[in-house]
Amino acid sequence: MSADLSKFAELGLDPALLNAIADTGYTTPTPIQTKAIPLVLSGGDLLAAAQTGTGKTAGFTLPLLQRLHQSSQGRSQPGKPRCLILTPTRELAAQIAESVKTYGGHLPLKSLVVFGGVNINPQRMAMRKPVDILIATPGRLLDLCGQNIVNLSAIEILVLDEADRMLDMGFIHDIKKVLKLLPKRRQTLLFSATFSDEIRKLAHSFLYQPQEVSVTPRNTASELVEQVVHLVDKSKKRQLLSTLIKQHNWPQVLVFTKTKHGANRLAEQLGKDGIEALAIHGNKSQAARTRALSQFKDGTLQVLVATDIAARGIDIEHLPNVVNYELPHVSEDYVHRIGRTGRAGSTGQAVSLVNIDEVKLLKGIEKLIGKKIPVVDIDGHTGHTEALGSTVVERKSRPPRKRAPRRRKAS
Ligand code: AMP
Repeated sequence: MSADLSKFAELGLDPALLNAIADTGYTTPTPIQTKAIPLVLSGGDLLAAAQTGTGKTAGFTLPLLQRLHQSSQGRSQPGKPRCLILTPTRELAAQIAESVKTYGGHLPLKSLVVFGGVNINPQRMAMRKPVDILIATPGRLLDLCGQNIVNLSAIEILVLDEADRMLDMGFIHDIKKVLKLLPKRRQTLLFSATFSDEIRKLAHSFLYQPQEVSVTPRNTASELVEQVVHLVDKSKKRQLLSTLIKQHNWPQVLVFTKTKHGANRLAEQLGKDGIEALAIHGNKSQAARTRALSQFKDGTLQVLVATDIAARGIDIEHLPNVVNYELPHVSEDYVHRIGRTGRAGSTGQAVSLVNIDEVKLLKGIEKLIGKKIPVVDIDGHTGHTEALGSTVVERKSRPPRKRAPRRRKAS
């Protein structure tokens, strides 16, 4: 074992998990891992504030694998998982399933992922094989329970990941239904980006004397990610975006829009500008979303346009550019969005195209992140800086776009 892996060993992890960590190349636990792993290993309930990007998935997956392995004695049964990980979106479910496979690579535990939007039959078939860990979105899980395909009476560990997002998406009733199907005696781990009153209320209704841990996001908005705002008319946003992408030759850009319709339209318009772009959102089939995501990840697709919900759980390391084509209504979503860049120590850039109606949202975001975002003028595209009123911020000027030398006016 390398000297650095001893930091993981000190948290109480077994060699099988240390070997899996060695496979990933991680050398040091992240703060959430340092805090959460010993607590989860001790068997207690946990209420954790940690966002995507903090390493939270390994923070709960590594110790739960260890606990399940220690208590397993070959107890895997078909359709009767021992651990349930609930997530709000299919993307996040798929991603956690991948992490479970990676971190559990040296253990005999079986995992399965189920989510809606795809044919249920293959999932029903898969459930006939023994399963230890089930990763699921709430709706599809309840369907499978209703059809007696899944039985939750053997659950030893429940993880609710991105619980705040589940509440935002209206899953509260589904969560309550799932909770009724679980044994009372179990270990419960709740992860949420923030601890709102609603989350605390939910947590206290079904966690038993939870330990609380909280970490600041590894990529705090203000640190790793260079952020700029361009003030621009709504009608000029598309043109400016095309110009920026072409001018800087951005290789991989994740663009956020507020609506599914807006995402589709923008992807089409960028296509007309000669920029390869695809949209992902909840209305697209799972196959189309997976395809777009993998093309984007492997660099064959330059621009991915996404809504906040669809983008949750997308994990792309070193994503260099995020564009907020429209600002989100919830300031925290801005932090989630730009958290896609600057991961794992790399720096990224987040560009926000802000029109006059969005200045209020911008101010809310600046309040949340505790700093002003520099406004950058781009010749011929931006303006309306007076809309920021007394809060005018640092102004940088980009070098103007390279143009052919101007012809002198004939005198
Ligand atoms: P998460 O917050 O779980 O979505 O993880 C964010 C990213 O951090 C993922 O790409 C992980 O592979 C990566 N990661 C998790 N733990 C570590 C670690 N200890 N060192 C380096 N990268 C990590």
